[in-house]
Amino acid sequence: MARVFWFRRDLRLQDNVALNHAISGAITDGDKLVTGIYPINKISFQKLLPIRQASLVESLSALDRSMDGNLVRRYGNVAKEIVDVASATGVATVHATRSFDPDGIAEQNEVGLALKKINVFLQLDDSYYAVAPGSVTKDDGLPYRVYTPFYNNWVKFGWESPVKLKKDFSWSKSVPSVELPKISGDLPFKIRAGEDYATKTFNSFKKRALNEYHDIRNRADLSGTSNLSHALAHGEIHPRTLLAQLEPFDSDSDGVTVFRKEIAWREFYADVLWHNPHTTSDYYDQRYALMRYDTGPSAEKKLSAWKTGNTGYPMVDAGMRQLTQTGWMHNRVRMIVASFLVKDLHLEWQLGAKWFEDNLTDFDPASNAHGWQWTAGCGTDASPYFRIFNPVLQGLKFDPNGDYVRKYVPELAHLPNSQVHEPWDHSEGYAAGYSKRIVDHSQERDESLARLAEIKGQ
Ligand SMILES: Cc1cc2nc3c(=O)[nH]c(=O)nc-3n(C[C@H](O)[C@H](O)[C@H](O)COP(=O)(O)OP(=O)(O)OC[C@H]3O[C@@H](n4cnc5c(N)ncnc54)[C@H](O)[C@@H]3O)c2cc1C
Repeated sequence: MARVFWFRRDLRLQDNVALNHAISGAITDGDKLVTGIYPINKISFQKLLPIRQASLVESLSALDRSMDGNLVRRYGNVAKEIVDVASATGVATVHATRSFDPDGIAEQNEVGLALKKINVFLQLDDSYYAVAPGSVTKDDGLPYRVYTPFYNNWVKFGWESPVKLKKDFSWSKSVPSVELPKISGDLPFKIRAGEDYATKTFNSFKKRALNEYHDIRNRADLSGTSNLSHALAHGEIHPRTLLAQLEPFDSDSDGVTVFRKEIAWREFYADVLWHNPHTTSDYYDQRYALMRYDTGPSAEKKLSAWKTGNTGYPMVDAGMRQLTQTGWMHNRVRMIVASFLVKDLHLEWQLGAKWFEDNLTDFDPASNAHGWQWTAGCGTDASPYFRIFNPVLQGLKFDPNGDYVRKYVPELAHLPNSQVHEPWDHSEGYAAGYSKRIVDHSQERDESLARLAEIKGQ
């Protein structure tokens, strides 16, 4: 009997444990046929902005190519499409990778129940992580709330070696497949995706920046990070594969150690979300739900200036424009713009997180919600709320020559060197139409601290 493999956020063939289980099952059953299906959720897809639609479609196109055109693409209700394929192929088992985030869990529960009704078993294996969420706990069995002890225990817990795609099977395409849906708008850039591209990206990062990663990863103007986040978010490469290739460099490279620690942040946030599923949209530290936030027309105006990169703060505006122009934003700048939204504009973090969700090609429910909550001060690691990023000083430090700002904010391109960070101090600063500052950072900093004082001790 054949098997069905349901691709989810694991759009790759190598180091795919759940896929290998499907293949082993098909071999044991005797006919060695696997149907690989990706059902696109029509309602969710139609709600996505073109940037996110394209990022999924490019990943699926690449996966289909790597399967010699044998990916069964469906478009509709996920559970219904999988049931349809399972019935048409007559399988007894559908295989997939287990999700640990709330939407993924709801989806796999729905699919599992729908399959059960036709006597088909949904076999879930592995995870999108080196260490599955929920595996690493404190001695008393409780989950970690702080990153560093989590990291230390995560390293001790360890992970499996990557697995190669099993041989001796064939893809079956005996059921109908549809064209991938059209993107609902134009994109100003091309998304590059797929397992081969992820491997190339990692190899080039190892040569280009890995050994200096600890020094340059915070520099927004340099290409000092891996750019693997889209690939990790779509599962085009598994973190096990990355970690395994870090081992030989381990002894004498700080870059390797720090890179491993960044991979572990992704794992930590997945673990935190698994234990606190409400925190995709709700406060991890509930005291902050009581904070005074701005609402109404003036808040909407501020949000709109932030989204479009017109706050009058060059580093914030460059970041927001990088997001909509490329679908990605440098990590340091994500922190700067997030801090600005919450602490300078006094808006709730969920508003910013939603904009990121709509526009990031690497959107990940756990890293996004908890990256936001960490910066807002209501998340893990007790990051004190009064550690408020000064957008000008951050710009001077992490874009010292102003190249990053000049690249994304053409209205400031005429200003030399680091002067782009303080156009108000330059006689020609506003000559090309750059926006005036919508708020005064030092006043808003005080305002934030005052609002914090109101909820302290609650
Ligand atoms: C407000 C905010 C929102 C964020 N939203 C997302 C998101 O939706 N999706 C996402 O993948 N990352 C998110 N991050 C984390 C981080 O900004 C990106 O992972 C990183 O910028 C991706 O670029 P890279 O692949 O070149 O990273 P590298 O520096 O090369 O890091 C390698 C990988 O480690 C992981 N990683 C690195 N830093 C972090 C971190 N701080 N938290 C979690 N994982 C990390 C990512 O998977 C990344 O691809 C967010 C951070 C903040 C502050």
